[in-house]
Amino acid sequence: MSTLLFGALLIGAFAIMVMLQGDPLSDYRRLFLTSSAGVRDEDTFFVTFFGVSSLLFTSGNSSILTDGYFSRPGKQKLFLSKIAPNPTVIKECLDRVDMAKKGLEAVVAMHSHFDHAMDSPEICRLTGAKLVGSSTTAFIGRGWNLSESQIQTITDDDEVVRFDNPDGSAWELLFVRTEHIELPSLLGFIAGNESPILTDPLVPPVRMGAYPVGDCYSLYITRIFKNGTKRTILVQGSAGYVPNLLSRPHLPKVDVVFLGVGGLGKKPVEYQEGYWREVVEATGAKLVIPVHWDDFTRPLTKPLQPPSRLLDRFDRTMTFLEEKANSTGVKIRLMDSWVKVALFDEVDSILSRKDM
Ligand SMILES: [Zn+2]
Repeated sequence: MSTLLFGALLIGAFAIMVMLQGDPLSDYRRLFLTSSAGVRDEDTFFVTFFGVSSLLFTSGNSSILTDGYFSRPGKQKLFLSKIAPNPTVIKECLDRVDMAKKGLEAVVAMHSHFDHAMDSPEICRLTGAKLVGSSTTAFIGRGWNLSESQIQTITDDDEVVRFDNPDGSAWELLFVRTEHIELPSLLGFIAGNESPILTDPLVPPVRMGAYPVGDCYSLYITRIFKNGTKRTILVQGSAGYVPNLLSRPHLPKVDVVFLGVGGLGKKPVEYQEGYWREVVEATGAKLVIPVHWDDFTRPLTKPLQPPSRLLDRFDRTMTFLEEKANSTGVKIRLMDSWVKVALFDEVDSILSRKDM
């Protein structure tokens, strides 16, 4: 069967599944963090979520964006034709969060699949931010004619990239190379699973499978405030793991993990247990915020929703996470798109409440 025909059949199946599944978030609304947009403090650490593992971290007049992905082509485009960054949609999204005033220092691609890296060079072009990631991500930047001065390639194990702000505050980004989750065979078949790295500039439009994984990172983000205090979080973009990687003693402990759960609901419970042990337990996280749980073929003008059960089982992921939370005392919270949260205010208040 041709890939095109297969894709067309799949889109029909998705439509039927969506009609049958009702509101898949109704059981989890109680877990969503609420907006703290009214909080104004230059030492506050804000986070805004845009679906998949797109997270904007802002403190003072300085920001870091992970896996900025706004174009989100629909199923038909994604599965049946070629994709490219959509500059109009990207600009609308950047304007909606007033990115021009947020001092975007870096757009970090935690790996190079389309839903993590495709839009990054256009975001960098519009904002002046640096594109930071693997050599494969760098070739995605070059394919979009991003200037070399805006491209920073991670070459070393456990490499740290630092951005200093004029007031003495800073960001430290620590890149730990890890493994991507093994894609379900259905998705791997559609994506094409071509070469795992790029060695030449990638010029879109291309089929989604032309964006290879490249190096895949666990990303520690430390905010150093101007009074010298530090707070560190971990962003895990893909639900892959390497045993004993994040428990190495020189790596920081964190309060919060943004835990990529794409594909986790389709994995056996032994795998889920290993992922929890190696990413949540190993880092000492007290609060887990699942990311990459949404259907990334829906535009960001619509509310986030989990993907079709054909692709993932968000319900199983959440059942597993809530069981772990109940047995360990770790808290689980979700974020909606565009909601700006004062992260550590939330952490401190959640952890001081014993009943939740
Ligand atoms: Zn991926």
